[in-house]
Amino acid sequence: MANKKKKIRIALNKNRQKRTRSNDFTRAFGDQTPAAAESVSGERVRPKGEMSRHRTIMADAAEATASDASSGPPDESSSRRAVDQAAWTAGRVLRVHGLVSVVETEDGRTFPCHVRRLLKSMAIDGRNVVAVGDRVWFRPPEKGGDEGFIERVEARQGVMTRGYRGRRHVLAANVDAVFIVSALAEPGVKISLIDRYLAAAELGGVRPVIVLNKADLVDVSLYQWVVGLYTQLGYETIVTSAADGRGIDRLRGLLRQGVTAISGQSGVGKSSLLNTIQPGLNLRVNEVSDWTSKGKHTTTTAELIRLEGGGYVVDTPGLRQFELWGVLPGELEGCFIEFRPFIPLCRFPDCSHTHEHRCAVKDAVYWGWIHSGRYESYLKLYHQKPDDGS
Ligand code: GDP
Ligand code: ZN
Repeated sequence: MANKKKKIRIALNKNRQKRTRSNDFTRAFGDQTPAAAESVSGERVRPKGEMSRHRTIMADAAEATASDASSGPPDESSSRRAVDQAAWTAGRVLRVHGLVSVVETEDGRTFPCHVRRLLKSMAIDGRNVVAVGDRVWFRPPEKGGDEGFIERVEARQGVMTRGYRGRRHVLAANVDAVFIVSALAEPGVKISLIDRYLAAAELGGVRPVIVLNKADLVDVSLYQWVVGLYTQLGYETIVTSAADGRGIDRLRGLLRQGVTAISGQSGVGKSSLLNTIQPGLNLRVNEVSDWTSKGKHTTTTAELIRLEGGGYVVDTPGLRQFELWGVLPGELEGCFIEFRPFIPLCRFPDCSHTHEHRCAVKDAVYWGWIHSGRYESYLKLYHQKPDDGS
């Protein structure tokens, strides 16, 4: 059946949609699928209905099934229909080298795979079709061949992004957690930096875990307020020391649960912690400053590394890339989770919570319901002041 055409549905180019602001921010934020975080447009929080709007295009019938996958909403029924269980194998993308992705199956075998043509053509404006961490279905290499074909890419759950040529670019997909590592001494805790990473985690839909390292160097009781601050917000906070081993078992336990990214300033002990967890694990964590100073894009491919005890860490040449990129003020407010209940109570629907009168967020800071340090972090990010450490 040469070139038989078939109608298929693909996601609307979100660039063209207008954003309408909802005052019921908490709900909208909760509904936001992580795909929103990779949108290239300046739009921010969208209700889910918009996320799943589609248009119909004509495509080769043979390739139509593959297409539902990457573009469609995370809809159970459509995904089941499209998967060809007999011919395809499920896997996870470990690395992407140009046009070839290395896909790992559940039993640990790896296959180099190309991406189906139609999947490629649906990448909007050069956004990557396949990212490290993507869950895919692929057709294994035919007899005699050594490369397979990725037939569909599942919806992404949590993304690490970076700015690339004015757009958000997905560095890693389906990241379950990010360790935000900070040092209690040398260099010392910096709330605004933690908050910057936290906001990035909220934006990407990745669960943050705050790691306060180098506990051996300080009297930890003096830092209970930091632990209290973040624990109260609902963020898991762990005091660790790569030197005396405290907290390491907890980190190890968390790392077993899926895919974890490690972020934090240089020198806080990221490599030391990982080496304590798995000796010999030489991640590229120290190349951070090289990358930023040269501004090169060539070495920025991420990679998933399987840990001996189970789970994966995301290895990126520059861990700082897990940062806020191109976030608009309207989106920033939702990244501070404790602001969310107050936002609809502000007098002006487009309140920026910076200078306005009758701002419920500012009132909450005044009454101590929102920590003033967190509010300062918000202002800093709002005005896009760089952190000394970043
Ligand atoms: P990274 O840049 O975040 O990967 O940090 P490193 O792991 O390279 O650590 C930076 C420095 O801090 C090294 O000299 C480590 O030996 C030291 N360091 C790391 N973790 C600890 C810790 O828990 N306690 C103490 N005392 N020093 C640490
Ligand atoms: Zn306000």
